[in-house]
Amino acid sequence: MSKQILAEYIWIDGQTPTKKLRSKTRVLDLVDGASHGQLPDWTSDGSSTAQAQTTQSDIILRPVHYIPDPIRGQPHILVMCEVFNADGTPHKSNTRARLRAAAENSKDAEPWFGIEQEYTLYDRDGVRPLRWPTGAGFPAPQGRYYCGVGSDEVYGRELIEAHLKACLSAGLKIGGINAEVMPAQWEFQVGPLSPLQTADELWLARWLLYRIGEDYKISARLDPKPVGGDWNGAGAHTNFSTKQMREDGGIAHINAACEKLRTSHDEHIKVYGAGNEERLTGKHETCDIHTFRWGVSDRGASVRVPLHVAQAGKGYLEDRRPAANADPYEVCAAILETACGIRKIE
Ligand code: ADP
Ligand code: MN
Ligand code: MN
Ligand code: MN
Repeated sequence: MSKQILAEYIWIDGQTPTKKLRSKTRVLDLVDGASHGQLPDWTSDGSSTAQAQTTQSDIILRPVHYIPDPIRGQPHILVMCEVFNADGTPHKSNTRARLRAAAENSKDAEPWFGIEQEYTLYDRDGVRPLRWPTGAGFPAPQGRYYCGVGSDEVYGRELIEAHLKACLSAGLKIGGINAEVMPAQWEFQVGPLSPLQTADELWLARWLLYRIGEDYKISARLDPKPVGGDWNGAGAHTNFSTKQMREDGGIAHINAACEKLRTSHDEHIKVYGAGNEERLTGKHETCDIHTFRWGVSDRGASVRVPLHVAQAGKGYLEDRRPAANADPYEVCAAILETACGIRKIE
């Protein structure tokens, strides 16, 4: 017997400076007992996603990670794909290929990542953040919104709850959610998990946020500095550990990794998100983009060692530099290449 399932093929396009998610639905006849591991490649029109010229437009979508589809329900699935050229080489937009290599080269270190995804909600018109006054007005100044409760403090919770439930029912490892410092800004955390798992799950959780936002007529955006002036930006703090860091005495390895990160600050900033200079100003719990500083419990540092980690003498570090719109494949690859000593000297 065969059954029909809807497989939503999801991939990352070639837009610059910030790549965006795309997806399309494939109706598959799965013969009973057949494994999803055999999900077929598919093609797409690369000329419509900034990934090819019209005359040689086919790109290949290759399934690499699938999860249950929490919106359509069982047996339907969401399928994260890598993009390949017709000749079988990874497309230049395929940053997961870089992370695959970095993860393979560092697997003996047993690295884990946990990413805090901040984002801002907008009405469908996209002009002002959700429920901000139209025209020249602003909400009351920051100070009361972070982890707030009440309709006058937090905006958009109905979408945030639906998103959390959807992620959990799809099996994504969400660690928690919170309302952020700027009204209409929120955060969810993914991980800790292996590098590819964290980055895949983050992209899938982003896709679910956008998709469920359609139902609520709310759009989520990842701009690093959605509103200029005295309003917090949006980041993607990236927490990182190796087996050595997690073991007794691991703090020495954490400190050593912080020093390595100092030496490749510029390499990292290149892949930590477009427009990040507007966010990393030295204000609003950031370190300015031209400075590298790390410290214990310091939310004004580039890299923070959480207080509980310093006290326990083991754990993980938090790279606070990545912007909300950074590509987690590139961020995790850069950290592995630096901290695990596999950065290619060019
Ligand atoms: P804060 O807002 O104080 O920076 P959060 O609670 O929002 O902290 O996020 C902590 C993050 O640390 C989570 O994403 C979690 O997955 C991650 N994390 C916890 N332990 C580890 C670890 N050993 N290695 C890597 N990441 C970790
Ligand atoms: Mn957080
Ligand atoms: Mn936060
Ligand atoms: Mn953080």
